[in-house]
Amino acid sequence: MSRTTKISVGSIQVTALRDGELYLPKEALVNLREEDAAIINDSENSELIYGNVNAYLIQSANRNLLIDAGCRELFGPTCGFLQDAIKETGLQLNDITDLFFTHLHPDHIAGAVNTDGKAIFENAALQVLESEHDFWTKNNFDPIEVNGADWSNLASGVLNAYNDKKEIISFTKDLIPGVSLLSIPGHTPGHSGFRVDSDNQALVHLGDIIHAPNLQLNDPNASTIFDIDGGEALNSRKKMLDMVSTDRVMCTSGHTLEPKFGFIEKRGTGFKFTA
Ligand SMILES: [Zn+2]
Repeated sequence: MSRTTKISVGSIQVTALRDGELYLPKEALVNLREEDAAIINDSENSELIYGNVNAYLIQSANRNLLIDAGCRELFGPTCGFLQDAIKETGLQLNDITDLFFTHLHPDHIAGAVNTDGKAIFENAALQVLESEHDFWTKNNFDPIEVNGADWSNLASGVLNAYNDKKEIISFTKDLIPGVSLLSIPGHTPGHSGFRVDSDNQALVHLGDIIHAPNLQLNDPNASTIFDIDGGEALNSRKKMLDMVSTDRVMCTSGHTLEPKFGFIEKRGTGFKFTA
């Protein structure tokens, strides 16, 4: 099955690259409705906890911008196929000119370096948000914290690998012409989505506001332990879902299933994703 889905947003080409797919461990979920918790407790392969790991290629003029880089081998054998997906688009790894991470969690950055810590995308300039950069490089993480110790070394390692071509930016900077950033704090301090605008067409990437679409669209209160500030992440999730459903703008996100691009509609107390 193809690992890529390509669309045009005006004159900009956007390709979803499916790095892999996985079932979230039930221990990673919090704030569940009783009926959902019962289903998830019963099965490790419930559709409620199924997610994809996506990266995005954005092509405009002579720029090939890669947003996120998948999880390499870190999350097991069903993930880590970003390079296959890029080759499916007809590009080589050296054709990537620009690199950005929606946040510095392993499933978004590990595929940017090899197991020796060397940069995979040798010709890519990295833009990194100051708030995200500072969080992962300036904090001393508690060794037992899931979001800290195990992952902070990887984040600083990836930043080091691209140090020669690293630019620290703020949310007001466009990544390339037509691609702007959306601040979505909570999951991490500098967590971001992005927006593509061209010729009166638009696409919004919602970052990691949702990890298990079948569960969290229906019940946006359902959350994961991967959020560094759970309360702020919940507010961000509700705010973004309200915005894109009200504006009826085409969406995608870091863990969207198939189809990759569609519209989010209000349904009762939750939402539904339709192509
Ligand atoms: Zn993620």
